[in-house]
Amino acid sequence: MTIRHHLSDPLLIAYAAGTLPEAFSLVVATHVSMCDDCRARLGAFEAVGGAVVESSSVALSAGCLEAVLARLGTPEPVSPAKPKGQLPTPLQDYIGGDLAAVKWRRLGMGVRQAILPTSKGAIARLLYIPAGQAVPDHGHRGTELTLVLQGAFRDETDRFGTGDVEISGQELEHTPVAEAGCDCICLAATDAPLRFNALIPRLLQPLFRI
Ligand SMILES: [Zn+2]
Repeated sequence: MTIRHHLSDPLLIAYAAGTLPEAFSLVVATHVSMCDDCRARLGAFEAVGGAVVESSSVALSAGCLEAVLARLGTPEPVSPAKPKGQLPTPLQDYIGGDLAAVKWRRLGMGVRQAILPTSKGAIARLLYIPAGQAVPDHGHRGTELTLVLQGAFRDETDRFGTGDVEISGQELEHTPVAEAGCDCICLAATDAPLRFNALIPRLLQPLFRI
């Protein structure tokens, strides 16, 4: 698994600081469990946070982060949690089971989703997209994180394979299409309702809470 699309520093810092909504934390924790690179960066940010708290001599000025990082050296990546089954451990712990435990709802054209219970402010859901199938194109009112758990999808911006995370802002209007040959399963977190362009998905939106 070669991961090409990673979490941003601000997301990792917010996760380390515990300020992300639960839905986003779940995506970050799941990606970090799959990605050595982001795990090492998160470790560095957590170490910096600890160092800032512990040492009153650290001035909180520009360049402080770099200075603390330089003092700490390159962090050793923590071993990833061993997956117990098909899903990464943080997600499996959250769902309380494997893919078989997921209660899917049909969205049409073979696309299915499952809303995961999280605290208010953001929604986490699993998306199941059959190979070759498109998800209706939509823009975003807020931020959407989409982590690929199985298979791959493409949209107007790039290809996203297993382990990749797409960070979509308000400016992105996209039509994700699952790659042929393998059904695609994603974990997505949104902090605002998606804005579907086609009429019917828009009518269905309140119903499916997407
Ligand atoms: Zn990563």
